[in-house]
Amino acid sequence: MNVTAAHPPHPFAGNAKRPKRNFAALALVVLVSLALSIAALPHMEQRLMEGRLRQDEATLRLVTEVIRGALSRTEALPALIAERPILGDILRDPDNSGLLPFANEQLRQTALSLGISDIYVMDADGTTIAASNYRLDRSFIGQNFRFRPYFIDALANGIGRYHALGTTSGQRGYYFAAPIFDGTKILGVVAVKITLDRFEEAWRDNDSRIFVADQHGVIFMSDRPEWQFRTLAPLSEVAMEEIRSTRQYPMTLLKPLSLRSEPFVAAQGEDNRLSRMTITSDDGVVSHYVAQQSLIASARWRVNILTPAGSTRAEALGLFAISWLVILIAGLSIIILIQRRTQLLERIAVQRELAETLDARVQERTRDLNNANAKLRQEIAERAHTEERLRRTQAELVQAGKLAALGQMSAALSHEFNQPLAAVKSYAENAATFLERDRAQEARENITRISLMADRMASISKHLRNFARRPQEQLRDIPLRAVIRDALDLIEPRLRRAGAEVILELPVDEAEIWVIGGRVRLQQVLVNLLSNALDAMVDTKTPKLELHITEDVEGMVCLTLRDNGTGLSQDAQAQVFDPFFTTKEPGHGLGLGLSISYNIIRDFGGKIEARNTAEGGAEFTVHLRPSAKSRQHTSKAKQNT
Ligand code: ADP
Repeated sequence: MNVTAAHPPHPFAGNAKRPKRNFAALALVVLVSLALSIAALPHMEQRLMEGRLRQDEATLRLVTEVIRGALSRTEALPALIAERPILGDILRDPDNSGLLPFANEQLRQTALSLGISDIYVMDADGTTIAASNYRLDRSFIGQNFRFRPYFIDALANGIGRYHALGTTSGQRGYYFAAPIFDGTKILGVVAVKITLDRFEEAWRDNDSRIFVADQHGVIFMSDRPEWQFRTLAPLSEVAMEEIRSTRQYPMTLLKPLSLRSEPFVAAQGEDNRLSRMTITSDDGVVSHYVAQQSLIASARWRVNILTPAGSTRAEALGLFAISWLVILIAGLSIIILIQRRTQLLERIAVQRELAETLDARVQERTRDLNNANAKLRQEIAERAHTEERLRRTQAELVQAGKLAALGQMSAALSHEFNQPLAAVKSYAENAATFLERDRAQEARENITRISLMADRMASISKHLRNFARRPQEQLRDIPLRAVIRDALDLIEPRLRRAGAEVILELPVDEAEIWVIGGRVRLQQVLVNLLSNALDAMVDTKTPKLELHITEDVEGMVCLTLRDNGTGLSQDAQAQVFDPFFTTKEPGHGLGLGLSISYNIIRDFGGKIEARNTAEGGAEFTVHLRPSAKSRQHTSKAKQNT
């Protein structure tokens, strides 16, 4: 059988290249993700900035609304307060020291309840006669505010509004004023001042800068104290004169801020709502901002919110790192997935290959088995045929053997009978002749010879009968020693004539050896064997016969008879027990002796064997069943006769 030892490739063969490939893929993923992230960085920053600007725009709107709300809430208060009769009373009678404390206290209570910094009443000249802060050292009472525009405007227009750094308080404030009438006559002016410091505090929480600049470009409010009263641009002479005359701000504080402003140009183009601002602080630190503005028209204020330009850089970098990581992880995941898939595909391929190899082997084996089966079937058929032929040949042989035996027997019988018959005939003729010549004596002798011949023929016939008919003798226990002795006695005259030496090797204890058989027939067998031996030793100088008894492996009693004669010829070795086989001269043997002996011993349940000895003689062994009477023979005796 041709078995091909197909070694499937190891599932991970060829993986040696994989680490290199993996490394290359990894490097590629790192580089690509880095490039993508870097490419996305400016965009990311811009988007962040836009978000930030939108957020600041909302803050700006809120800040503006808060300030506007605070101002508009306060705006109507002076006119309402001016309605109070007591104010008219004290203005009409400024020397009434009894009324003044009431008026002062009323103003204080009102300021307190409305959350207003100061309320104060001025006469038509602008001198303060009553004030909510009457208790304080820096009380406005006695102060003259004729120079303040709110006073002038209140007298002229019925309403005055103004913002300034308080000359007495040193606090920034927004002032609203309204005239106090007595009928159509203006008795004086009531002013309300609110401070704006609390708003700035809230702005400081923000990263972005917030400031409020007035119509002159002076920063009035800011989350950065150092920017207060700085100007966005150098002031014009007119503006300086106006500030100076109204004592709005101390002139010494009004220094321009180092500021450069330019239009904001974004990716989509110029955006009017925005401008770029670069501010250099007094100690030389340069800051870049994107500025947004809103207007509070009533106060002529501009609220500015400045978003630091670089503020989104760090955030963008953080996002850049995160996005890089995300892309990297995604890339790595894809690589791992691809690798897994490749491995899986490889494994499937290997398994398929294995399955195919196995399939091929199975098919090959099946084919071989089928072939072997066919061969076997053929062989069986041939054997059956041969067997049939053999059986036929055997039957033919048996038939041939039977015919041969019949031929042999006819030849032997015709020979055995023809010779005495011829002799009988010649004796009878002689006897007749003798009687004719009256020679009675000779005639009698011839008749006696005829009688002897008849006896001989009767003996032959008896022999034949013995061969053909099985005696009905019962099997019984027979004494082997006694049988041997009888046989030797019978053959004794021949032994003596031949001068043969007989050596008996029997068990030493002299006890009888009992075997199963028929006494007469066993004796017949022994006489036959002894006489055959004597026949074979005719030409032997010192004929010798050895008899001994042993026990074979099956526990049978073995009687062996050995001679130093011619030994069995080649033919005799094969056919010695066949009927009518003989090597003897006609008239000396029928060739039935051993055949009859063989059948007798077989009837006893034993067997007889023949072979040549090493010395050249023949050896016959008779195996007999031991009887229950027999004893074990372990030692042997040697006895010569
Ligand atoms: P017969 O003695 O009439 O020939 P047997 O059957 O007794 O018939 O013997 C057959 C033949 O076996 C003999 O002719 C002889 O050739 C051979 N034979 C028997 N016994 C011996 C022996 N002891 N030694 C040699 N040949 C033997």
